[in-house]
Amino acid sequence: APGALSPHAKLVGNGHLTNGTPSTSTERIQIVDDEKKFTPNLASQIEQWGLRDAGFNYNVVAVFGSQSTGKSTLLNRLFGTTFDVMDETKRQQTTKGIWMCRGKDMNVLVMDVEGTDGRERGEDQDFERKSALFSLASSEILIVNLWEHQVGLYQGANMGLLKTVFEVNLGLFGKKTQDGTNGRTLLLFVIRDHIGVTPLANLQATLTSDLTRIWESLAKPAELKDRQLSDYFDLAFTALPHKILSADKFEAEVQTLRRRFVNKTSEDYLFKPAYHKRIPADGVAFYMEGIWEQVQTNKDLDLPTQQELLAQFRCDEISAVALAEFNEQAKSQRRPVESGKVVEGLGALMRNWRTDALTRYDRDASRYHKGVYGRKRADLIASLDSTLSSLFLGQLKNLHKLCLVTFKKEMLDGLHGETYDFANVVSKAQARCEKTFSDGAKEALVDGTDWVWEDELELLKEEVRAVADQCRKDETKKMLNLIERNFKKHISEPVELALNKANSEMWDDILRTFRETLNKAETTYSTKAKSFNCTDEENVTSLAALRKRAWLALRAKIDEQTTDPVILGKLRGHFEERFRYDEHGVPRVWKPEDDIDSAFKKAKDETLELVPLYSKISPVDSSLEYTLPSETTDALSTEEFDFPSTLVVFTETKALELTNKFRRDADAYYVEAKRSTVASIAQ
Ligand code: GDP
Ligand code: MG
Repeated sequence: APGALSPHAKLVGNGHLTNGTPSTSTERIQIVDDEKKFTPNLASQIEQWGLRDAGFNYNVVAVFGSQSTGKSTLLNRLFGTTFDVMDETKRQQTTKGIWMCRGKDMNVLVMDVEGTDGRERGEDQDFERKSALFSLASSEILIVNLWEHQVGLYQGANMGLLKTVFEVNLGLFGKKTQDGTNGRTLLLFVIRDHIGVTPLANLQATLTSDLTRIWESLAKPAELKDRQLSDYFDLAFTALPHKILSADKFEAEVQTLRRRFVNKTSEDYLFKPAYHKRIPADGVAFYMEGIWEQVQTNKDLDLPTQQELLAQFRCDEISAVALAEFNEQAKSQRRPVESGKVVEGLGALMRNWRTDALTRYDRDASRYHKGVYGRKRADLIASLDSTLSSLFLGQLKNLHKLCLVTFKKEMLDGLHGETYDFANVVSKAQARCEKTFSDGAKEALVDGTDWVWEDELELLKEEVRAVADQCRKDETKKMLNLIERNFKKHISEPVELALNKANSEMWDDILRTFRETLNKAETTYSTKAKSFNCTDEENVTSLAALRKRAWLALRAKIDEQTTDPVILGKLRGHFEERFRYDEHGVPRVWKPEDDIDSAFKKAKDETLELVPLYSKISPVDSSLEYTLPSETTDALSTEEFDFPSTLVVFTETKALELTNKFRRDADAYYVEAKRSTVASIAQ
């Protein structure tokens, strides 16, 4: 954490600790410590230096050379860095491990590498070799720092170091250099304390021939045996005067050299594009750590693999950031969609989120290994699309529900009143429903996906059809009920009249009325059913139901007119008409000489003849006989229906019972008649 006193605490200037305050560009960081551990803080340091988003617009330089040859001093002068310089009074080695600074006011990462000196340290050259590998894999320029008097000394530490550098380079870039992209490195020799007696050109020639000799002495793999030093390295040479003896000249020359690192337009600009290792700035920390890890564990350092690993790591990170932002956006519409809402313009929103996420990903990730970048992009698209797809499906589902509800409502509104054309109402509502759905579904589509909405439309169409069917059935039912009510109204009076008349053609009259009224009802049905688009089968069923219900209505009317009190009333009336009135309809006043007994018997017998007439629906004219199939089904009732039995009004038992009841009534009239004659005599 910033400000904490950890081994990675950042030192500024003369070693003062920063306290989490805004960074200055000269903060330094020890990327590899004296225990050869790589820092976990490089990425955040690069971010603090403001280089994270530099892409490829940055450079890396490292220094090599024996201990105490003024390397740190040189870097500080050249790049405005703050590396430790050996304290003159103590003369101890100061630089441990590898340090890094950002060049002041320049996009340069500068690495100060621990100097080696086999003579003094008597150590194996493990660290030397490892730091050489590390520097070569990450730097564009290696500054090789040496005293003038070291030039030409084969035994010197420098030559051993260079041999290491060359060997390492072959291992790293041997096969890759042909494409010339990331294998090339500039070796910049800086000759220190140049007195001037020997011209730079001579020193350069000596060094070059030494280098060539070393190159030739290398044990190269067979397939690389013809490779030249110049296939891998550019060489540059410069000399600096004595820092103390010619202080002014030294400063001037350092400034001249500095300009070659800074001035991109100058002819001798040192950071040539060919040297760039093509690691995007936001991946440098991870890349370097990976390289060090490999170096440290003595594994073969395979740069293409490292770059692929880097690409995988960074592309994952970049993708995760893009996905997180995308998910945040998508979340805003998840709840509305899940709660059943049709989100207006959801397609446009989704297309924007998707494009934004991919643009963000492409901006940062496209700098990495193409294959990895592409694969991770496909993964990202799959994640985006799976989220979007569930929103899309939710939207379809909600749209489907909404369209169906709207359709039902339109049907209800349309079927209001008396004069609607059913088929017309249905087809209009149907067309509107399908169009609303299709338009909404198309809006929600996202380019580049293989989403389909047509299946959902088919489901909707089916449901719409089912609703329309149900509506038609309901409407048909309502119509049948209406027709039935009308039918009842129309038969009521004629049936009553006919049953009151009670003559032998009573049933003929009733059945004639029944048929006429039923014919009218059937015509009414057929006319209306046309606009309902009813199927033939439905028409057959409806008409059969109509006939059955008409018949049952007739029977109900007959039952109503033949309940015990009513039928007994009718019989009594019939009898009275004959017994108590004469043929002119004048009430009889019985005289003793009248034949009451015969009159009574005649009236009674005539009346009793009516009982069998009422008992069965049976016209004289057989063409008026009516019949219905017994199995007739009616959506309204599942009652058993046995037509022949409906022709029977009174069973034999019932008829007998009525006869007996009537006889008792008639007897009462007879007694009353007898009494009246007695009374008249008595007066
Ligand atoms: P490093 O170990 O290579 O990083 O060397 P330093 O930069 O720490 O310097 C080691 C010592 O050499 C210090 O005392 C410096 O003052 C001194 N020094 C630096 N540059 C020069 C130079 O150009 N010539 C001479 N003679 N001494 C130098
Ligand atoms: Mg140093």
